[in-house]
Amino acid sequence: MNQRTELNTLGEIGLIERLATPFLATERPETVRGIGDDAAVIDTGGPDYWLVSTDMLLEGVHFDLSYAPLKHLGYKAVSVNVSDIAAMNGLPTQITVSVGLSNRFPVEALEELYAGIRLACNDYKIDLIGGDTTSSRAGLVISVTVMGRVAKDRVTYRNTARPNDVLCVTGDLGAAFLGLQLLEREKQVFLANPNMQPEIPEEKSYLLERQLRPEARTDTVYELQDLGIVPTAMIDLSDGLADGVLHLCNQSKTGAVLFDENLPIDDVTYLTAGELNLSPITCALNGGEDYELLFTVPPQEYEKLKNHARITAIGYLTDNPARVVLATKAGEQTPIKAQGWQHFS
Ligand code: ADP
Ligand code: MG
Repeated sequence: MNQRTELNTLGEIGLIERLATPFLATERPETVRGIGDDAAVIDTGGPDYWLVSTDMLLEGVHFDLSYAPLKHLGYKAVSVNVSDIAAMNGLPTQITVSVGLSNRFPVEALEELYAGIRLACNDYKIDLIGGDTTSSRAGLVISVTVMGRVAKDRVTYRNTARPNDVLCVTGDLGAAFLGLQLLEREKQVFLANPNMQPEIPEEKSYLLERQLRPEARTDTVYELQDLGIVPTAMIDLSDGLADGVLHLCNQSKTGAVLFDENLPIDDVTYLTAGELNLSPITCALNGGEDYELLFTVPPQEYEKLKNHARITAIGYLTDNPARVVLATKAGEQTPIKAQGWQHFS
């Protein structure tokens, strides 16, 4: 009898591992790194590596057009891809964009999408060099492939962190998740009573911006270069801090201790979490889509970073791979579990 394994028994990581296994031994000498990091690494000679990564956004899974403006969506589709190049300590150079369209979109709507893509190309100084256009019966699909470059002596992988390294994160965490909660809540209010106009106070606009129009941290790539720092390891936070830390630790075969009081949380995130009866720490740990960078540096290198306003030390790595924990001020330690998006459950 043919075996049938349901997708949700593996989860996203398990599925990728299973499908990727036959491709882990690579054929081409220029393939420096294939599946397994934020982007693939290719050596075509010269002082730089080329980087390639691809990410797809699906209507109903990754975005909801009842509150995501198409222009923002175009921008976001580029940002989430550029973020994977930044996670290799690289800078983006070109993108291709493929779209699956349903006939409910007028041309003007697609122009809006592409206006957002244009804006992102300006901001990241990259070229849109191709793509594909097809019809879709299951809503809008946007798939972006990004190319980038990094100096060979600056490329930063996920699996090269070491015990005692300082764990650093850029920006602040949890805001995009709370932005999504606000948008979902307003949508429910509107669905229940279409006469009620959605209303999200101006002071919460930061949360909406973080959800709808995230920026990739290419600024950090430049800053690390200026400071003369190459992180020992790096990953971008697409599915939450917990997920990122666990990936980095699993792949580097290290453990980690994070301090809850060190997690960078913006004031409006903190307040809004309280209003929604959520723990700000949980939002920071498990809320996805922040697109900040999580990286590690040896303690002596951290000296160069410690006065940086938008880079925070949140913990350190240990030599015990079995222990990835969150420590409270009172000294309690709880294991960190991945709770990122469970697409298949
Ligand atoms: P990220 O969140 O950084 O985009 P993912 O978790 O999506 O990374 O993917 C992890 C790794 O698995 C990456 O190297 C990615 O290229 C690879 N990958 C994901 N899906 C597939 C697939 N369907 N076939 C081959 N490789 C894949
Ligand atoms: Mg990534």
